[in-house]
Amino acid sequence: MDSAALLKELVAIGIAIAGEPHLRRLLDLTLSGALRLTRAEAGAIYLLKPEGLEFALVKNPVLTRRYGEAEVNGRFEGQRLPLDGSSLAGYVASTGQALNVPDAYRIPPTAPYQLQGRYDRENQYQTRSVLSVPLTAASGAALGVLQIINALDDNDELIAFTSDTEEIAGLLAAYAAVAIRNVQLAEHSLNDHLTGAFNRRYVTLRLDEEISRTKRTGEPLSFAIVDIDHFKEVNDTHGHPAGDTVIRGVAQLLINQSRAYTVVARYGGDEFAIVLPSTPKAGALGYGERIKRIVASYPFPTGTVTISIGTATLPGDAESRDDLIGAADRALYRAKQEGRNRVGG
Ligand code: GH3
Ligand code: MG
Repeated sequence: MDSAALLKELVAIGIAIAGEPHLRRLLDLTLSGALRLTRAEAGAIYLLKPEGLEFALVKNPVLTRRYGEAEVNGRFEGQRLPLDGSSLAGYVASTGQALNVPDAYRIPPTAPYQLQGRYDRENQYQTRSVLSVPLTAASGAALGVLQIINALDDNDELIAFTSDTEEIAGLLAAYAAVAIRNVQLAEHSLNDHLTGAFNRRYVTLRLDEEISRTKRTGEPLSFAIVDIDHFKEVNDTHGHPAGDTVIRGVAQLLINQSRAYTVVARYGGDEFAIVLPSTPKAGALGYGERIKRIVASYPFPTGTVTISIGTATLPGDAESRDDLIGAADRALYRAKQEGRNRVGG
């Protein structure tokens, strides 16, 4: 393909994937487009899940001819790779760096990444040249990896991927990442109806993204759970609609008092979750003290409202998403035990 034809094809694929609301079809368009543009023999798209990096789609015509499409899908899809250098895709997802490996069978043993040889052995296939590029959202969050393998020349001989191919794959991955992120967001209903704040699902999604970013960049991440004190009394004394007004009012104060990239979500009945990217423990405690004071001094029509806050920070308090939530929950419990209207961390 000459460069004008290539550009035209790339833009056509970009438009097709931007408008594709179905994740599986979107991945299919991306991967088949990548193979067509680069003359790679095979490829895969991996998506980052809380449990690790998952094979979301595999295209390998050699294996498909040998085993049939259903069998090939069954052998790969849903399989997971750890987020480290024990596989090339794991390395790319964990570092955010693209890899262009001329021959995966000749990676020096001292390299920080290695070919996960198991899949070649199990499928009697040789993964030689590999181009692996991260799928990175605009926020910098890792979404997954686009990997193409075994570049072919005009005589169908195996060669290394060129830097031109690297550039094309990078552009395609950038288009795909935006589209994947949009589909993932649209798949979830993300807002809480009562308050207009984000909902619990969105918090889970964002925490996973922010945690993988933290692991990559080493930046701290804090998480806070806010719970209204003695909220049942508001309901009991003033009625449920007045209780709703208090929940909405607290949500609004939290949103107004938070920076643009802080995620404020309604986590449950009278509970809110707050994701504080790039925030160390001291910052989270300071934030907690500030919102605690602001809520306590706000003139709600039903009288004074106070909140208790539990915070936790990664690294330090936790390793995983569930640990982080658990640590914040325990800190909240302590704040309640110690008399409410306070911040625990
Ligand atoms: P604590 O200080 O220990 O948090 O006491 P609390 O009374 O706030 O206890 P808790 O947090 O367990 O109570 C939450 C209450 O919130 C229970 C439930 O009836 C009420 N609630 C849950 N969702 C809504 C809602 O959407 N609107 C209203 N008005 N009330 C709700
Ligand atoms: Mg409460």
